[in-house]
Amino acid sequence: MTATNKQSHPKGLWVLFGTEMWERFNFYGMRALLTLFIVNALMISKEDSSIIYGGFLGLCYLTPMLGGFISDRFLGNRNCIMLGGLLMAIGQMLLFTSASIFETNLELAKTILYVALGVLIFGNGFFKPNISSMVGSLYPKAEKNKLDTAFTIFYMGINVGAFLGQLICPLIGDVVVDGVRNIQAFKWGFLAAGVAMLLGTLTFFLLKNKYVVTPDGKAIGGLPSGHNADDYEEGESQKAQFSNLSIGIAVAVLSLLIYVFHNFLGQNWIYSTIYSAGITLAGLILSDKSLNKIERDRILVIYIVSFFVIFFWAAFEQAGSSLTFIADYQTDRNFFGWNMPPSMVQIFNGVFVVLFAVPFSLLWDKLRANGKEPISPAKQAIGLMLIALSYFIIAHNVKDLGNSGLLSVHWLILLYLIQTWGELCLSPIGLSLVGKLAPKRFASLLFGVFFMSSASGYALAGTLGSILPATGEQFKACSEAGFDLKAVLDKTVVPTAEQIKFMVDNKISDHYPSFAGFTLHNLFEFFMVFVVLCGVASLLLFMLVPRLKKMMHGIQ
Ligand code: GLN
Repeated sequence: MTATNKQSHPKGLWVLFGTEMWERFNFYGMRALLTLFIVNALMISKEDSSIIYGGFLGLCYLTPMLGGFISDRFLGNRNCIMLGGLLMAIGQMLLFTSASIFETNLELAKTILYVALGVLIFGNGFFKPNISSMVGSLYPKAEKNKLDTAFTIFYMGINVGAFLGQLICPLIGDVVVDGVRNIQAFKWGFLAAGVAMLLGTLTFFLLKNKYVVTPDGKAIGGLPSGHNADDYEEGESQKAQFSNLSIGIAVAVLSLLIYVFHNFLGQNWIYSTIYSAGITLAGLILSDKSLNKIERDRILVIYIVSFFVIFFWAAFEQAGSSLTFIADYQTDRNFFGWNMPPSMVQIFNGVFVVLFAVPFSLLWDKLRANGKEPISPAKQAIGLMLIALSYFIIAHNVKDLGNSGLLSVHWLILLYLIQTWGELCLSPIGLSLVGKLAPKRFASLLFGVFFMSSASGYALAGTLGSILPATGEQFKACSEAGFDLKAVLDKTVVPTAEQIKFMVDNKISDHYPSFAGFTLHNLFEFFMVFVVLCGVASLLLFMLVPRLKKMMHGIQ
């Protein structure tokens, strides 16, 4: 039996922490190697590899909706976590196979890659919403106020795993000796990821019955039909009641929306599916007849917050694309005498989460003890404000760099520090908010909706990343080829046919990118896009806080 006293957290939290830690090791470790493997071993172009990578990430955060649905209706959290964990381990073993045979049979290796990614996408979909919703279920109603702290601790598990995965998998899988990459090494990175996932699944399998239980010892996360009536508030329904008609309408609306996003708003099929699925699922849940007014209000709060955090993830996920390009081409990466590899700069995010997760959870505890803790949506608005601030600082630092100056890596590290503070105000708090507000019978499904805002954020990040203006190395390449790229972009000279060919061959655009009707001339303006988007989102969310507070009906 696991007791929770006033201060301590149930032991089950540490089981979920360990399980999620290994799972995130598996996910981020593989993620660090994926595009390198695709390009260098499977000989797929960089462009196609980014499309595969973006689509894969987006779909990983789309399937939690399915995993949540199946869990809430049929299998329960525990089964879904083990199923998801095993699927992901199989996915990694398939990647290991692909990375073992590509030299003898390239086509088969490619086919296995796609199958592996598909298996990983579904595995993640089963695993992610269910482990998150179990954290919420560990706390009885009277202790739901501990959830922000609980999720912040859980979030630390996520990032210890992410950090270790991003360190160890590249170390054994991305081996470069004397400037030559050993493409046979990738398989060891994938194998390590697979082993980590097996360890996570095993941790959960062995410890769940003993520790992942309610304060009075009842199993948490069993089959949906096994819910205990005592877990419910008075008048709360225990079963979702979607009618066949509303499911039918949802499918029709989904198809229509995908069509509209693709054909009228110019989004690719994957992005269109992500946006449309989010909207449709949100509508479907609200159509459930068993919902009462309070539940409906609380679910609406989840939706409103999910909408605003899309902008956070769109800005945050520049880490893997535009910020890494800047780290690569326009940054002096001298870090106390060591020239840091560009792909490693983003590891500071994981490092800072691990360093600051506990101080943040102590801060919330202290503020709560003094009755000064901001309510969750206010914390999220602070998170959005912090990410806007991080881009504001970087924008002002790149302002005077000109077209060829180098940004000191210390500024990028400061950017990751502030972004991580923002993330800690927003991401674990968002998980906790869903844990507190979701009616139990929809908990995993609503986590699915919440993760869909990450998927939408990643899709938007892809679109926004592609409006990165020319960076230093492109100006340099043109000047070495004997012409001034700035003059071409400013349209003060007309490039010759030879210069146009040079630009096409080197994938250099001959015009400035534009966003929402504004032309972006330089990195300063590019970064200001994120300042404005996240700053406005933050202010609007702050303005909505009093209203949201009412709609939360007593939950903080
Ligand atoms: N970094 C966190 C994780 O991996 C959050 C990701 C997200 O929700 N976008 O779980």
